[in-house]
Amino acid sequence: MAATKRNTTGRDFDVVIVGSGLIGSTLAVALGGAGLRVALMDRLDPATMVDEPFDGRASAVSHASRRALDAIGVWRHLADDAQPILDIRVSEGDSPLFLHYDHNELGDGPLGFMLENRHLRRGLGAAISTTANIELFAPAELSALDRSGTAAVVRLAGGEVLRGRLVAAADGRASPLRQAAGIRVHGWSYAQSGIVCTVTHERPHRGIAHERFFPAGPLAILPLTGDRSSLVWTEPSAVAGRLIELDKPAFDDEMRDRFGDFLGYVVSVGPRWSYPLALHNAKTYRSRRLALVGDAAHAMHPIAGQGLNLGFRDVAALAEVVVDAARLGLDIGGTDILSRYETWRRFDSMVLLAVTDGLNRLFSNDISAARVARDAGLAAVNRMPPLKRLFMRHARGTVGKLPRMLRGMAP
Ligand SMILES: Cc1cc2nc3c(=O)[nH]c(=O)nc-3n(C[C@H](O)[C@H](O)[C@H](O)COP(=O)(O)OP(=O)(O)OC[C@H]3O[C@@H](n4cnc5c(N)ncnc54)[C@H](O)[C@@H]3O)c2cc1C
Repeated sequence: MAATKRNTTGRDFDVVIVGSGLIGSTLAVALGGAGLRVALMDRLDPATMVDEPFDGRASAVSHASRRALDAIGVWRHLADDAQPILDIRVSEGDSPLFLHYDHNELGDGPLGFMLENRHLRRGLGAAISTTANIELFAPAELSALDRSGTAAVVRLAGGEVLRGRLVAAADGRASPLRQAAGIRVHGWSYAQSGIVCTVTHERPHRGIAHERFFPAGPLAILPLTGDRSSLVWTEPSAVAGRLIELDKPAFDDEMRDRFGDFLGYVVSVGPRWSYPLALHNAKTYRSRRLALVGDAAHAMHPIAGQGLNLGFRDVAALAEVVVDAARLGLDIGGTDILSRYETWRRFDSMVLLAVTDGLNRLFSNDISAARVARDAGLAAVNRMPPLKRLFMRHARGTVGKLPRMLRGMAP
Protein backbone atom coordinates (compact mmCIF):
# COMPACT_ATOMS: atom_id res chain seq x y z
CA MET A 1 0.00 0.00 0.00
CA ALA A 2 1.06 3.62 -0.40
CA ALA A 3 3.27 5.08 2.30
CA THR A 4 1.56 6.97 5.12
CA LYS A 5 1.48 10.71 4.49
CA ARG A 6 1.22 13.27 7.29
CA ASN A 7 0.65 16.97 7.57
CA THR A 8 -0.63 19.23 10.32
CA THR A 9 -2.14 22.20 8.51
CA GLY A 10 -5.50 20.78 7.41
CA ARG A 11 -6.34 19.56 3.93
CA ASP A 12 -9.33 19.72 1.64
CA PHE A 13 -10.70 16.57 0.04
CA ASP A 14 -13.91 15.73 -1.72
CA VAL A 15 -14.51 12.58 0.33
CA VAL A 16 -12.99 11.33 3.58
CA ILE A 17 -13.36 7.55 3.99
CA VAL A 18 -13.05 6.13 7.50
CA GLY A 19 -12.04 2.46 7.37
CA SER A 20 -9.70 0.94 4.78
CA GLY A 21 -11.14 -2.58 4.86
CA LEU A 22 -12.23 -4.24 1.63
CA ILE A 23 -15.15 -1.85 1.19
CA GLY A 24 -13.48 1.45 2.17
CA SER A 25 -10.50 0.63 -0.06
CA THR A 26 -12.73 -0.22 -3.04
CA LEU A 27 -14.67 3.02 -2.59
CA ALA A 28 -11.39 4.97 -2.48
CA VAL A 29 -10.21 3.45 -5.77
CA ALA A 30 -13.61 4.03 -7.44
CA LEU A 31 -13.78 7.69 -6.40
CA GLY A 32 -10.07 8.47 -6.81
CA GLY A 33 -10.09 6.93 -10.29
CA ALA A 34 -13.05 9.17 -11.19
CA GLY A 35 -11.00 12.25 -10.30
CA LEU A 36 -12.27 13.01 -6.80
CA ARG A 37 -9.79 13.85 -4.06
CA VAL A 38 -9.99 11.12 -1.43
CA ALA A 39 -8.58 10.77 2.09
CA LEU A 40 -8.62 7.16 3.30
CA MET A 41 -7.92 6.53 6.97
CA ASP A 42 -7.76 3.48 9.22
CA ARG A 43 -6.68 2.90 12.77
CA LEU A 44 -4.71 -0.18 11.67
CA ASP A 45 -1.48 -0.30 9.74
CA PRO A 46 -2.36 -1.51 6.19
CA ALA A 47 0.88 -3.53 6.09
CA THR A 48 -0.43 -5.80 8.88
CA MET A 49 -3.82 -6.29 7.19
CA VAL A 50 -2.38 -8.34 4.33
CA ASP A 51 -0.77 -10.93 6.64
CA GLU A 52 -2.57 -14.27 6.63
CA PRO A 53 -3.21 -14.34 10.42
CA PHE A 54 -5.11 -11.01 10.18
CA ASP A 55 -8.04 -12.44 8.21
CA GLY A 56 -8.29 -16.08 7.18
CA ARG A 57 -11.48 -15.71 5.22
CA ALA A 58 -11.89 -16.22 1.53
CA SER A 59 -14.74 -14.45 -0.24
CA ALA A 60 -17.06 -15.55 -2.99
CA VAL A 61 -16.90 -12.56 -5.34
CA SER A 62 -19.92 -12.57 -7.64
CA HIS A 63 -19.69 -12.16 -11.40
CA ALA A 64 -21.11 -8.62 -11.10
CA SER A 65 -18.65 -7.69 -8.34
CA ARG A 66 -15.81 -8.92 -10.52
CA ARG A 67 -17.03 -6.66 -13.32
CA ALA A 68 -17.04 -3.72 -10.87
CA LEU A 69 -13.49 -4.49 -9.69
CA ASP A 70 -12.41 -4.78 -13.32
CA ALA A 71 -14.01 -1.46 -14.22
CA ILE A 72 -11.91 0.40 -11.62
CA GLY A 73 -8.63 -1.38 -12.41
CA VAL A 74 -8.47 -3.67 -9.36
CA TRP A 75 -9.17 -7.02 -11.01
CA ARG A 76 -5.85 -7.09 -12.90
CA HIS A 77 -4.16 -7.29 -9.48
CA LEU A 78 -6.41 -10.19 -8.43
CA ALA A 79 -6.94 -12.35 -11.50
CA ASP A 80 -3.99 -14.70 -10.90
CA ASP A 81 -5.22 -15.63 -7.40
CA ALA A 82 -8.90 -16.04 -8.32
CA GLN A 83 -10.50 -19.48 -8.49
CA PRO A 84 -13.57 -19.57 -10.78
CA ILE A 85 -16.73 -21.03 -9.21
CA LEU A 86 -18.19 -23.20 -11.96
CA ASP A 87 -20.92 -25.10 -10.13
CA ILE A 88 -22.69 -24.88 -6.77
CA ARG A 89 -24.16 -27.97 -5.08
CA VAL A 90 -26.59 -27.50 -2.21
CA SER A 91 -27.60 -30.46 -0.07
CA GLU A 92 -29.12 -31.30 3.28
CA GLY A 93 -26.30 -32.91 5.30
CA ASP A 94 -25.35 -36.17 3.63
CA SER A 95 -28.67 -36.53 1.81
CA PRO A 96 -28.23 -37.59 -1.82
CA LEU A 97 -30.89 -35.06 -2.92
CA PHE A 98 -29.20 -31.88 -3.98
CA LEU A 99 -29.69 -28.73 -5.92
CA HIS A 100 -27.07 -28.31 -8.64
CA TYR A 101 -26.30 -24.94 -10.20
CA ASP A 102 -24.20 -25.41 -13.32
CA HIS A 103 -22.69 -22.28 -14.91
CA ASN A 104 -23.20 -23.83 -18.36
CA GLU A 105 -26.96 -23.40 -17.92
CA LEU A 106 -26.50 -19.61 -18.13
CA GLY A 107 -23.66 -19.83 -20.61
CA ASP A 108 -21.94 -16.62 -19.56
CA GLY A 109 -18.79 -17.67 -17.71
CA PRO A 110 -18.32 -18.69 -14.06
CA LEU A 111 -20.92 -18.02 -11.36
CA GLY A 112 -18.29 -16.09 -9.40
CA PHE A 113 -14.73 -16.30 -8.09
CA MET A 114 -13.19 -17.33 -4.79
CA LEU A 115 -10.49 -15.01 -3.50
CA GLU A 116 -8.64 -15.16 -0.20
CA ASN A 117 -9.21 -11.91 1.68
CA ARG A 118 -5.44 -11.40 2.04
CA HIS A 119 -5.20 -11.39 -1.76
CA LEU A 120 -8.13 -8.99 -2.05
CA ARG A 121 -6.43 -6.64 0.42
CA ARG A 122 -3.10 -6.88 -1.41
CA GLY A 123 -4.74 -6.21 -4.79
CA LEU A 124 -6.66 -3.23 -3.43
CA GLY A 125 -3.44 -1.90 -1.85
CA ALA A 126 -1.71 -2.11 -5.23
CA ALA A 127 -4.60 -0.26 -6.87
CA ILE A 128 -4.59 2.43 -4.16
CA SER A 129 -0.89 3.07 -4.61
CA THR A 130 -1.32 3.51 -8.37
CA THR A 131 -4.49 5.63 -8.29
CA ALA A 132 -3.98 9.39 -8.30
CA ASN A 133 -5.96 11.49 -5.82
CA ILE A 134 -5.94 9.04 -2.87
CA GLU A 135 -4.06 9.96 0.31
CA LEU A 136 -3.74 7.28 2.94
CA PHE A 137 -3.69 8.14 6.65
CA ALA A 138 -2.96 4.93 8.54
CA PRO A 139 -2.42 3.95 11.21
CA ALA A 140 -4.32 6.93 12.56
CA GLU A 141 -6.87 7.46 15.33
CA LEU A 142 -9.92 9.56 14.65
CA SER A 143 -10.27 12.06 17.50
CA ALA A 144 -13.26 14.18 16.40
CA LEU A 145 -15.77 14.60 13.58
CA ASP A 146 -17.69 17.83 13.08
CA ARG A 147 -20.45 17.67 10.44
CA SER A 148 -22.23 20.91 11.31
CA GLY A 149 -20.76 23.15 8.57
CA THR A 150 -20.63 23.19 4.77
CA ALA A 151 -17.82 20.61 4.99
CA ALA A 152 -17.27 17.74 7.42
CA VAL A 153 -14.11 18.16 9.50
CA VAL A 154 -12.25 15.03 10.59
CA ARG A 155 -9.57 15.47 13.24
CA LEU A 156 -6.96 12.78 13.72
CA ALA A 157 -5.18 12.14 16.99
CA GLY A 158 -1.84 13.03 15.33
CA GLY A 159 -3.10 16.58 14.71
CA GLU A 160 -4.08 16.28 11.03
CA VAL A 161 -7.31 17.93 9.98
CA LEU A 162 -9.13 16.49 6.95
CA ARG A 163 -12.06 18.37 5.42
CA GLY A 164 -14.48 16.72 3.02
CA ARG A 165 -17.88 17.45 1.50
CA LEU A 166 -18.75 13.88 2.41
CA VAL A 167 -17.57 11.35 4.99
CA ALA A 168 -18.05 7.66 4.16
CA ALA A 169 -18.26 5.36 7.17
CA ALA A 170 -16.65 2.08 6.05
CA ASP A 171 -15.64 1.28 9.60
CA GLY A 172 -17.17 -2.20 9.91
CA ARG A 173 -19.88 -3.89 11.98
CA ALA A 174 -19.36 -1.90 15.17
CA SER A 175 -19.00 1.35 13.15
CA PRO A 176 -17.95 4.00 15.66
CA LEU A 177 -19.10 6.67 13.16
CA ARG A 178 -22.58 5.16 12.89
CA GLN A 179 -22.85 5.08 16.66
CA ALA A 180 -21.54 8.64 17.05
CA ALA A 181 -24.17 9.79 14.54
CA GLY A 182 -26.87 8.17 16.71
CA ILE A 183 -27.97 5.80 13.91
CA ARG A 184 -29.50 2.69 15.43
CA VAL A 185 -29.50 -0.77 13.88
CA HIS A 186 -32.15 -3.43 13.70
CA GLY A 187 -30.73 -6.94 14.20
CA TRP A 188 -29.72 -9.83 16.38
CA SER A 189 -26.94 -12.29 17.13
CA TYR A 190 -27.30 -15.86 15.84
CA ALA A 191 -25.53 -17.44 18.83
CA GLN A 192 -23.61 -19.22 16.07
CA SER A 193 -19.99 -18.78 15.00
CA GLY A 194 -18.35 -19.47 11.67
CA ILE A 195 -15.15 -21.49 11.94
CA VAL A 196 -12.94 -20.64 8.99
CA CYS A 197 -9.94 -22.62 7.80
CA THR A 198 -8.19 -23.75 4.63
CA VAL A 199 -7.93 -27.44 3.78
CA THR A 200 -6.00 -29.40 1.18
CA HIS A 201 -7.46 -32.52 -0.41
CA GLU A 202 -6.28 -35.43 -2.54
CA ARG A 203 -8.69 -34.94 -5.42
CA PRO A 204 -9.37 -31.73 -7.42
CA HIS A 205 -12.51 -29.76 -6.55
CA ARG A 206 -13.20 -28.95 -10.25
CA GLY A 207 -14.40 -25.46 -9.31
CA ILE A 208 -17.45 -26.80 -7.44
CA ALA A 209 -18.66 -25.01 -4.30
CA HIS A 210 -20.68 -27.07 -1.80
CA GLU A 211 -23.22 -25.79 0.70
CA ARG A 212 -24.32 -28.51 3.11
CA PHE A 213 -26.99 -27.89 5.67
CA PHE A 214 -26.74 -29.53 9.09
CA PRO A 215 -29.06 -28.93 12.07
CA ALA A 216 -26.28 -27.02 13.88
CA GLY A 217 -25.69 -24.77 10.87
CA PRO A 218 -24.37 -24.82 7.30
CA LEU A 219 -20.96 -26.02 6.13
CA ALA A 220 -19.62 -24.24 3.04
CA ILE A 221 -16.78 -25.89 1.11
CA LEU A 222 -15.42 -23.27 -1.27
CA PRO A 223 -12.83 -23.97 -3.98
CA LEU A 224 -9.47 -22.13 -3.85
CA THR A 225 -6.60 -22.26 -6.33
CA GLY A 226 -4.80 -25.64 -6.37
CA ASP A 227 -6.19 -28.62 -4.48
CA ARG A 228 -7.34 -26.38 -1.64
CA SER A 229 -10.71 -25.28 -0.29
CA SER A 230 -11.86 -22.74 2.25
CA LEU A 231 -14.31 -23.94 4.90
CA VAL A 232 -16.94 -21.86 6.63
CA TRP A 233 -18.26 -24.25 9.26
CA THR A 234 -21.14 -22.89 11.31
CA GLU A 235 -21.78 -24.24 14.82
CA PRO A 236 -23.42 -22.89 18.00
CA SER A 237 -20.84 -20.50 19.48
CA ALA A 238 -20.05 -22.73 22.49
CA VAL A 239 -19.31 -25.70 20.22
CA ALA A 240 -17.25 -23.55 17.85
CA GLY A 241 -15.21 -22.29 20.85
CA ARG A 242 -14.46 -25.89 21.84
CA LEU A 243 -13.56 -26.97 18.28
CA ILE A 244 -11.23 -24.06 17.69
CA GLU A 245 -9.24 -24.97 20.82
CA LEU A 246 -8.63 -28.60 19.75
CA ASP A 247 -5.15 -29.63 18.67
CA LYS A 248 -4.72 -30.17 14.93
CA PRO A 249 -5.21 -33.98 14.79
CA ALA A 250 -8.39 -33.78 16.90
CA PHE A 251 -9.71 -30.79 14.92
CA ASP A 252 -9.01 -32.54 11.62
CA ASP A 253 -10.87 -35.67 12.80
CA GLU A 254 -13.96 -33.57 13.64
CA MET A 255 -13.62 -31.64 10.39
CA ARG A 256 -13.39 -34.87 8.31
CA ASP A 257 -16.56 -36.14 10.03
CA ARG A 258 -18.42 -33.19 8.54
CA PHE A 259 -16.52 -32.88 5.28
CA GLY A 260 -16.69 -36.53 4.21
CA ASP A 261 -14.27 -38.17 1.79
CA PHE A 262 -15.64 -37.10 -1.61
CA LEU A 263 -12.36 -35.23 -2.28
CA GLY A 264 -10.19 -37.98 -0.77
CA TYR A 265 -8.13 -37.41 2.36
CA VAL A 266 -8.50 -33.87 3.74
CA VAL A 267 -6.23 -31.96 6.15
CA SER A 268 -6.40 -28.41 7.51
CA VAL A 269 -3.49 -26.08 6.80
CA GLY A 270 -2.52 -22.87 8.60
CA PRO A 271 -4.45 -21.15 11.38
CA ARG A 272 -8.21 -21.36 12.11
CA TRP A 273 -10.50 -18.49 12.96
CA SER A 274 -13.90 -18.18 14.57
CA TYR A 275 -16.26 -15.31 13.70
CA PRO A 276 -19.40 -14.66 15.79
CA LEU A 277 -22.36 -14.34 13.41
CA ALA A 278 -24.97 -11.61 13.58
CA LEU A 279 -27.43 -9.74 11.41
CA HIS A 280 -28.03 -6.01 11.40
CA ASN A 281 -29.37 -3.32 9.15
CA ALA A 282 -28.88 0.36 9.99
CA LYS A 283 -32.17 2.27 10.33
CA THR A 284 -30.80 4.78 7.84
CA TYR A 285 -27.74 4.73 5.60
CA ARG A 286 -27.18 8.48 5.77
CA SER A 287 -26.97 11.44 8.08
CA ARG A 288 -25.71 14.99 7.52
CA ARG A 289 -22.65 14.69 5.22
CA LEU A 290 -22.31 11.03 6.21
CA ALA A 291 -22.99 7.82 4.24
CA LEU A 292 -22.71 4.29 5.63
CA VAL A 293 -21.24 1.57 3.39
CA GLY A 294 -20.49 -2.14 3.77
CA ASP A 295 -20.75 -3.78 7.17
CA ALA A 296 -21.21 -0.37 8.82
CA ALA A 297 -24.62 -0.33 7.08
CA HIS A 298 -25.53 -4.04 7.16
CA ALA A 299 -24.19 -7.43 8.18
CA MET A 300 -25.61 -10.86 7.50
CA HIS A 301 -25.16 -14.59 7.99
CA PRO A 302 -22.44 -15.86 5.62
CA ILE A 303 -24.78 -18.69 4.49
CA ALA A 304 -25.00 -17.26 0.96
CA GLY A 305 -21.54 -15.60 0.86
CA GLN A 306 -23.08 -12.23 -0.02
CA GLY A 307 -21.97 -9.72 2.67
CA LEU A 308 -19.02 -8.36 0.76
CA ASN A 309 -20.93 -8.42 -2.53
CA LEU A 310 -23.64 -6.31 -0.92
CA GLY A 311 -20.92 -3.88 0.19
CA PHE A 312 -19.59 -3.71 -3.37
CA ARG A 313 -23.12 -2.77 -4.48
CA ASP A 314 -23.08 0.07 -1.92
CA VAL A 315 -19.74 1.25 -3.28
CA ALA A 316 -20.98 1.16 -6.88
CA ALA A 317 -24.20 3.03 -6.05
CA LEU A 318 -22.55 5.66 -3.82
CA ALA A 319 -19.74 6.24 -6.33
CA GLU A 320 -22.30 6.69 -9.10
CA VAL A 321 -24.49 9.25 -7.31
CA VAL A 322 -21.43 11.16 -6.03
CA VAL A 323 -19.66 11.21 -9.42
CA ASP A 324 -22.88 12.29 -11.18
CA ALA A 325 -23.36 15.08 -8.62
CA ALA A 326 -19.74 16.24 -8.96
CA ARG A 327 -20.07 16.39 -12.77
CA LEU A 328 -23.14 18.60 -12.40
CA GLY A 329 -21.35 20.84 -9.89
CA LEU A 330 -23.72 19.82 -7.07
CA ASP A 331 -22.83 19.39 -3.40
CA ILE A 332 -21.76 15.73 -3.22
CA GLY A 333 -22.62 15.57 0.49
CA GLY A 334 -26.04 17.16 0.03
CA THR A 335 -29.16 15.56 1.47
CA ASP A 336 -30.80 14.81 -1.88
CA ILE A 337 -27.67 13.06 -3.18
CA LEU A 338 -27.39 10.89 -0.07
CA SER A 339 -31.15 10.17 -0.15
CA ARG A 340 -30.71 8.82 -3.67
CA TYR A 341 -28.00 6.52 -2.40
CA GLU A 342 -30.08 5.32 0.53
CA THR A 343 -33.20 4.68 -1.57
CA TRP A 344 -31.14 2.66 -4.02
CA ARG A 345 -29.41 0.51 -1.44
CA ARG A 346 -31.39 0.05 1.76
CA PHE A 347 -34.33 -1.91 0.35
CA ASP A 348 -32.04 -4.19 -1.69
CA SER A 349 -30.02 -4.97 1.45
CA MET A 350 -33.16 -5.61 3.49
CA VAL A 351 -34.38 -8.21 0.98
CA LEU A 352 -31.07 -10.11 0.99
CA LEU A 353 -30.81 -9.94 4.79
CA ALA A 354 -34.31 -11.43 5.06
CA VAL A 355 -33.53 -14.20 2.56
CA THR A 356 -30.27 -15.24 4.26
CA ASP A 357 -31.91 -15.11 7.68
CA GLY A 358 -34.84 -17.23 6.45
CA LEU A 359 -32.50 -19.82 4.92
CA ASN A 360 -30.53 -20.15 8.15
CA ARG A 361 -33.72 -20.58 10.19
CA LEU A 362 -35.22 -23.06 7.75
CA PHE A 363 -32.15 -25.28 7.61
CA SER A 364 -30.56 -24.92 11.07
CA ASN A 365 -32.98 -27.25 12.88
CA ASP A 366 -33.69 -30.96 13.14
CA ILE A 367 -37.47 -31.04 12.91
CA SER A 368 -38.20 -34.11 10.77
CA ALA A 369 -41.22 -32.67 8.92
CA ALA A 370 -39.15 -29.61 8.01
CA ARG A 371 -36.35 -31.88 6.87
CA VAL A 372 -38.58 -33.82 4.49
CA ALA A 373 -40.01 -30.58 3.07
CA ARG A 374 -36.53 -29.09 2.63
CA ASP A 375 -35.21 -32.15 0.79
CA ALA A 376 -38.27 -32.20 -1.45
CA GLY A 377 -37.93 -28.43 -2.01
CA LEU A 378 -34.27 -28.69 -3.08
CA ALA A 379 -35.06 -31.55 -5.44
CA ALA A 380 -38.09 -29.68 -6.86
CA VAL A 381 -36.14 -26.48 -7.55
CA ASN A 382 -33.51 -28.64 -9.20
CA ARG A 383 -36.16 -29.82 -11.68
CA MET A 384 -37.38 -26.27 -12.50
CA PRO A 385 -34.90 -24.71 -14.96
CA PRO A 386 -36.44 -21.16 -15.01
CA LEU A 387 -36.38 -20.93 -11.19
CA LYS A 388 -32.87 -22.33 -11.12
CA ARG A 389 -31.69 -19.81 -13.66
CA LEU A 390 -33.20 -16.99 -11.58
CA PHE A 391 -31.36 -18.20 -8.46
CA MET A 392 -28.14 -18.44 -10.47
CA ARG A 393 -28.56 -14.87 -11.69
CA HIS A 394 -28.94 -13.81 -8.04
CA ALA A 395 -25.74 -15.67 -7.13
CA ARG A 396 -23.99 -13.88 -10.02
CA GLY A 397 -25.30 -10.55 -8.72
CA THR A 398 -26.90 -9.56 -12.01
CA VAL A 399 -30.49 -9.04 -10.78
CA GLY A 400 -32.02 -5.62 -10.01
CA LYS A 401 -31.14 -2.07 -10.99
CA LEU A 402 -27.38 -2.30 -11.34
CA PRO A 403 -25.11 0.72 -10.92
CA ARG A 404 -22.71 1.37 -13.82
CA MET A 405 -19.73 -0.29 -12.10
CA LEU A 406 -21.59 -3.59 -11.71
CA ARG A 407 -22.26 -3.48 -15.45
CA GLY A 408 -18.52 -3.13 -16.08
CA MET A 409 -18.37 0.63 -16.61
CA ALA A 410 -16.54 3.37 -14.73
CA PRO A 411 -18.71 4.94 -11.97
C1 LIG B 1 -17.14 -16.21 8.26
C2 LIG B 1 -17.48 -15.20 7.22
C3 LIG B 1 -17.42 -15.53 5.86
C4 LIG B 1 -17.76 -14.58 4.88
N1 LIG B 1 -17.74 -14.95 3.57
C5 LIG B 1 -18.15 -14.07 2.62
C6 LIG B 1 -18.21 -14.43 1.23
O1 LIG B 1 -17.88 -15.54 0.82
N2 LIG B 1 -18.64 -13.51 0.32
C7 LIG B 1 -19.05 -12.27 0.71
O2 LIG B 1 -19.51 -11.49 -0.14
N3 LIG B 1 -18.99 -11.87 2.01
C8 LIG B 1 -18.56 -12.73 2.98
N4 LIG B 1 -18.51 -12.35 4.29
C9 LIG B 1 -18.81 -10.96 4.65
C10 LIG B 1 -17.61 -10.02 4.42
O3 LIG B 1 -16.44 -10.61 4.96
C11 LIG B 1 -17.85 -8.65 5.04
O4 LIG B 1 -19.10 -8.18 4.61
C12 LIG B 1 -16.77 -7.64 4.61
O5 LIG B 1 -15.48 -8.08 4.95
C13 LIG B 1 -17.02 -6.26 5.24
O6 LIG B 1 -16.01 -5.36 4.85
P1 LIG B 1 -15.99 -3.87 5.42
O7 LIG B 1 -14.83 -3.20 4.72
O8 LIG B 1 -17.34 -3.26 5.33
O9 LIG B 1 -15.70 -4.00 6.98
P2 LIG B 1 -14.36 -4.42 7.75
O10 LIG B 1 -13.65 -5.47 7.01
O11 LIG B 1 -14.79 -4.72 9.14
O12 LIG B 1 -13.44 -3.11 7.73
C14 LIG B 1 -13.64 -2.03 8.61
C15 LIG B 1 -12.35 -1.23 8.72
O13 LIG B 1 -12.61 -0.06 9.49
C16 LIG B 1 -11.54 0.16 10.38
N5 LIG B 1 -12.03 0.97 11.50
C17 LIG B 1 -12.95 0.62 12.41
N6 LIG B 1 -13.14 1.64 13.27
C18 LIG B 1 -12.32 2.64 12.89
C19 LIG B 1 -12.04 3.95 13.37
N7 LIG B 1 -12.66 4.45 14.45
N8 LIG B 1 -11.13 4.70 12.74
C20 LIG B 1 -10.48 4.23 11.66
N9 LIG B 1 -10.70 3.00 11.15
C21 LIG B 1 -11.62 2.22 11.75
C22 LIG B 1 -11.08 -1.24 10.75
O14 LIG B 1 -9.73 -1.23 11.22
C23 LIG B 1 -11.22 -1.99 9.42
O15 LIG B 1 -10.05 -1.92 8.65
C24 LIG B 1 -18.16 -13.28 5.28
C25 LIG B 1 -18.21 -12.93 6.64
C26 LIG B 1 -17.88 -13.88 7.60
C27 LIG B 1 -17.94 -13.49 9.07
